[in-house]
Amino acid sequence: MWDIDSSTRLCSLIGHPIKHSVSPQMHNAAFRSLGLNYVYLAFDVKPEKLEQAVKGLEAVGAVGFNVTIPHKVEVTRFLDELDESAERTGAVNTVVIKSSLKGYNTDVYGIEETLRDIRIGGYAMIIGAGGAARAAGVALINLGFRRIIVANRTLSKAKALVERLRELGAEAEAIGLREAGSRAQRCSLIINATPIGMTPNIDETPLRSSEIPGDAAVLDLVYNPVRTRLLTEAEKAGAQAISGLEVLVYQGARAFKLWTGVEAPVEVMRSEALRALKRWRG
Ligand code: NAP
Repeated sequence: MWDIDSSTRLCSLIGHPIKHSVSPQMHNAAFRSLGLNYVYLAFDVKPEKLEQAVKGLEAVGAVGFNVTIPHKVEVTRFLDELDESAERTGAVNTVVIKSSLKGYNTDVYGIEETLRDIRIGGYAMIIGAGGAARAAGVALINLGFRRIIVANRTLSKAKALVERLRELGAEAEAIGLREAGSRAQRCSLIINATPIGMTPNIDETPLRSSEIPGDAAVLDLVYNPVRTRLLTEAEKAGAQAISGLEVLVYQGARAFKLWTGVEAPVEVMRSEALRALKRWRG
């Protein structure tokens, strides 16, 4: 039984836009399955209202919140402290409100957990240089990858990310997106951290099967659709294809644990996220 009453604790998402998110379905199913008296709501917060939204959530006693585009960097200005994952990425996707407001980047954990069984070593390529690419870079370093190629449409942004990864100890190199195909041949892991291939552009892919080594693992952070064109190309090449749905679930599971102190029901979260994505109509 799941009743909202005067003791119900609030978790939320703030972003702009937020209509695409399946986090409310995923977290509410998890709360329900464990009989926890929590609710998760999504709030569309425009950039000029960010500070008010953060202070408002603190004022009403929310347990915490997720942060998505475009607030992941800006929100750090309104927090009291950052954990190591947020410090290293310079971006926050989860906030815990206790005696202070503490920011975390659970995308880093989500990527690490998703890749926990892959072979570590050789070159890894990150396609993209935005927020998700930053989280991917930190996760790769934490996992033990030392040689990282960042391929991005805007070369200057790839160079900025490479600088950051070098400061964290990686041997990193920036290239343009057009070079990604030829350089991917030497990589044991490829991560797409761009929206290429995302609904409605489901026929697009940053790489074709001929450019993907058969012994590589390919993680597409895009999870809508769950099976992207890039993952189909990876399978055609004989490579291991890993969906961004896993990252979505594990970053959510980590936030769930931070807010409730309880281990997240990962299977419930995965099947509910999948169900919500199948019903997604934009
Ligand atoms: P972001 O900060 O806006 O960065 C977007 C990146 O993609 C930039 O490097 C941008 O290149 C590149 N890009 C955008 N459109 C492109 C296009 N048409 N062709 C080539 N490159 C393009 O976004 P983000 O937060 O990093 O998110 C990136 C993707 O990861 C999104 O699809 C998001 O849904 C997904 N994501 C998934 C999870 C998960 O849990 N699975 C978590 C986080 C993010 P420029 O620098 O040239 O603009």
